[in-house]
Amino acid sequence: MDLLLKEYVDYKCQFPGCNSQIPDKKRGVNYVEVAHIKAVSEGGKSTIGNLIVLCPNHHKEFDLGERNIFEINSDQISGKLNNKNFQINLFNNYSYKIIDSSTEI
Ligand SMILES: [Zn+2]
Repeated sequence: MDLLLKEYVDYKCQFPGCNSQIPDKKRGVNYVEVAHIKAVSEGGKSTIGNLIVLCPNHHKEFDLGERNIFEINSDQISGKLNNKNFQINLFNNYSYKIIDSSTEI
């Protein structure tokens, strides 16, 4: 599952505007991690809809930061991370958009 998701997003962080690239020369792709939207400790499952691909920095920010999820559906997840609104189109890395933090969702 993890590998498929990473492949699907071309080994790129799904967080809007992130251009992080950590080349893994052994594997020939960028290093990224699969993160749970709802933590496993809170009953989150490792299934599509609860997983996103993030660079290590965003993964940590996601896990440790002030996080509010407004909505999760099959297409997207929207929320606020450390006072910045974000919207991630699930598994469609090319059509995400950044929402200005002043924008109402
Ligand atoms: Zn990132």
